[in-house]
Amino acid sequence: MDNITPGRNFNPASGDFDVATMNKLLDDAYLQQRRADSDKAKKSFAPSGLGWGSGNCPRFWYYSFKGGITRVDDNDAKSIANMAYGTQAHDRIKDLFKRAEVLIDDEIKVNSSDPPIFGFVDLLIRWQNESVPGEIKTAKQESFNIRKANKRPPGYHLIQLLIYMRLMNKQKGFFLYENKNTQELLVIPVTWTDANTKLVDDVFDWMRQTYKAFEEDKAPKRPFTIKSKTCKECPFYKNCWEDPEGKVEIPPLELPK
Ligand code: SF4
Repeated sequence: MDNITPGRNFNPASGDFDVATMNKLLDDAYLQQRRADSDKAKKSFAPSGLGWGSGNCPRFWYYSFKGGITRVDDNDAKSIANMAYGTQAHDRIKDLFKRAEVLIDDEIKVNSSDPPIFGFVDLLIRWQNESVPGEIKTAKQESFNIRKANKRPPGYHLIQLLIYMRLMNKQKGFFLYENKNTQELLVIPVTWTDANTKLVDDVFDWMRQTYKAFEEDKAPKRPFTIKSKTCKECPFYKNCWEDPEGKVEIPPLELPK
């Protein structure tokens, strides 16, 4: 776990400014913002939770739908600060679209029943005579440069927008990336190429297969090893590895890099 205050051991020459105590107060103030533990069952897949970490594991979704197992938020202060930064940037950038007089709505609910999906798309804008959904993302310099050079988002971002586009029946969407270091903006349009259509079809199939395992109460087999980073960071780690092996084989979700 990284400290958010790397200067915590700094001792000023005067010795009369207690830096360590201030650092601890700031760390604690962030940690107070962790989500409360919850064992509530989820009712649907969250598009923003697919494609990375335990969101790629069918067994993770099985436990999420089943409920009754406590999920502990063990985010450190840096992760909490990073999420808060993203939320603030979202608000600021949404306001830009509003000022530009193209914003139709923001935080629009998107859902489906087969497979069960629920999420919120960041933006809906009026663009060239169409209403177009958009997702706002912030990126560190290195990631921003990669997005800029490739002119495409990573798979775990792409699938989120493609799911919204399919459920909203939209032909076009876009990403708005902000460089966290320089505030430079990058617009990446997304359309229905053959590859994108296949990607969403495959992910919908995977969600249906995973949800069916939950409905039939057949736990999927563990697709990762006990020492994998994905498992170590999974909120169900303890339960998962204490429970018996699963009954159905469903591969982990794989998306383009
Ligand atoms: S601990 Fe690993 S195998 Fe188990 S649910 Fe989490 S990610 Fe999946």
